[in-house]
Amino acid sequence: MMVEQLDELYREVILDHFRSPRNVGELPGADISAEGNNPLCGDQITFWLALDDGKIRDARFVGKGCAISQAAGSMFTEQLKGKTLADVSALIAAMKALMQGQPPDPGVDLGDLESLVGVRKFPVRVKCAALSWNVVEQGLTDYTKQS
Ligand code: ZN
Repeated sequence: MMVEQLDELYREVILDHFRSPRNVGELPGADISAEGNNPLCGDQITFWLALDDGKIRDARFVGKGCAISQAAGSMFTEQLKGKTLADVSALIAAMKALMQGQPPDPGVDLGDLESLVGVRKFPVRVKCAALSWNVVEQGLTDYTKQS
């Protein structure tokens, strides 16, 4: 499946993030870092999160792979800033539910992530989108264990 198969509304948002990704680059001294890959597609992504007073002060990522995986990383970093770790867990749960076919959670601001709803018609590509929150979820789990 190509991005071209998505509805135009979703496609434009996804391609905008893919071509002009937000929050790209390593974050030295980050409190949380996590990396992962989606071998089915060859996507790779690493996230860095810096915390300040229990909230995410900055979130950055570096990755390579398909447009959906990289756009998802960009959209996800935008939604992470300013959130508590509990907020991030709620955001991850909302994205998982959305990709499983449920309507958007009205209690969670998904921002541009909501455009990934267009991907759920293509189950193989859901893994490309989900790579971002699966990686960050693992990073949060590791961080919580050690702190
Ligand atoms: Zn992919």
